[in-house]
Amino acid sequence: MLNQGIGSWPTRRARKTPDRVAVIHEDRAWTYREFHQRVLRLAHGLQDVGVVRGDRIAYLGPNHPSFLETLFAAGLLGAVFVPLNNRLTAPELAYNLSDSGSTVLVHAPEQACAARAAADEAGVRHRITLDGSHEGALGYEEVLAGGGTDPLDEPVAPDDPCMIMYTSGTTGRPKGAVLSHANIVWNSVNVLVDTDLGGDEVTLVAAPLFHTAGLNMTCLPTLLKGGRVVLLTAFDATRVLETIENLRVTYMFGVPTMYDAMAAQPRWSTTDLSSLRTLNCGGAPVPARTIATYLARGLAFSQGYGMTEASPGILFLDKEQTSAKAGSAGVPHFFTDTRVVLPDGLDAGPGQRGEMLVQGPHVMTGYWNRPEETEAVFADGGWLRTGDVARTDTDGYAYIVDRAKDMFVSGGENVYPAEVEEAVLSHPAVAECAVIGVPDQTWGEVGRAVVVLGPGAHADEPGILDHLHGKLAKYKIPKSVVLTDSLPRTATGKIVKSAVRASYANTPADEPHL
Ligand code: ATP
Ligand code: MG
Repeated sequence: MLNQGIGSWPTRRARKTPDRVAVIHEDRAWTYREFHQRVLRLAHGLQDVGVVRGDRIAYLGPNHPSFLETLFAAGLLGAVFVPLNNRLTAPELAYNLSDSGSTVLVHAPEQACAARAAADEAGVRHRITLDGSHEGALGYEEVLAGGGTDPLDEPVAPDDPCMIMYTSGTTGRPKGAVLSHANIVWNSVNVLVDTDLGGDEVTLVAAPLFHTAGLNMTCLPTLLKGGRVVLLTAFDATRVLETIENLRVTYMFGVPTMYDAMAAQPRWSTTDLSSLRTLNCGGAPVPARTIATYLARGLAFSQGYGMTEASPGILFLDKEQTSAKAGSAGVPHFFTDTRVVLPDGLDAGPGQRGEMLVQGPHVMTGYWNRPEETEAVFADGGWLRTGDVARTDTDGYAYIVDRAKDMFVSGGENVYPAEVEEAVLSHPAVAECAVIGVPDQTWGEVGRAVVVLGPGAHADEPGILDHLHGKLAKYKIPKSVVLTDSLPRTATGKIVKSAVRASYANTPADEPHL
């Protein structure tokens, strides 16, 4: 059997479009021929240090071409790629390394200290650093340069594991979703069918590659199609605007906070954005005012809903529908099926709220080494339980209401914080907001809004609460507002509700928390 996994993509691309640019980073560019050569050499180099089929190879660092090279080289060997979140601490990294049983860790110099400590604790056999060999670590370029260029003939089947991708850890400890080569291919096919992403695409990747959205929704479909990927080391709103203008970027993915940060830059109004064809936004609902800000510049968002376990794309809202279906996350991707089910297991009708289930060839087969959690996440018939509450309209467009875990009950009524947050965010002085349920003697639970004001903006509790009257039913209006200067977020910018609850559930409302 041949290599039917994604590890073969650079070889196949080098055959078709050797002279097209594949990857751009800082002021360097690599064609598909050069990229393929580097991947092949790296795979040989990894084989020389003992990597065999099925081994796990972890990667830790900001966005860099070596991330993609390691992913594809692992794929050539039938090894499993494990991207790690570069904002984790050494003990957290050690947990992910030993949980995945990684034997090799490739890492950036910025992470050397944490990487060394974590690798020692987890018993990783080889550390490979991007800045050359030292202190017991091998140098990345040396490993690569020492590797041969003979074709590798390790057989890889579509259902073999390709990567172990850890979930964001928004609701608990991150879980390793095992994504097969087929999962990644089908997710890419979904993206290519549902968007107009083409071989002439210039795709900007400013979101972290270690999450599925940055890697699988943007980078990999672009490389499959033969477009060029522009990697930014990390998200920086000014750099993003400069890069869009200088490199004539056509496609970009971001989470809402990134798009907000871009629009808040002084150079926003003077930047030439005319090359942009598609702005994709996902990971969290896109606030109405963000949509409006971009529409004013003639830019519409396509939006998506997904989760790591689904590689990640589940729902897609075409940019043509942004206004007609405002607030919706769209319809299922082409090769995806979804259901919304009520607590009794029956399918919800239009407008009824229930849990979203998903099935498709891009849905993982399970969590790494967690048989109980794997069993719990799959419902009858192999449907993956998303843990998200959704409703659909009569046209079949789905609206993500909130995570089931974040819902609270006030006076017998379900309150979904996401809806309340959207209303609070429409107050001009409010920049960020998280709503949680707190215990209340009369109502069981009531809402509390934890709010960050915009720079130089002024607002107080009565003003913010006043703003909600007429917008929300009375039981949804928070009973207290706490002002703070920042909210706990994951590396992709998601608010960690459990941390908000831990810090603010017991804060007396009359003591503003500044
Ligand atoms: P963990 O599973 O570890 O708690 P996580 O669920 O945040 O973390 P991800 O897989 O990165 O990890 O995120 C998937 C979740 O993000 C979805 O289940 C959903 O709650 C949320 N999400 C994604 N896209 C959207 C969207 N367009 N609208 C609303 N919520 C979204
Ligand atoms: Mg999740």
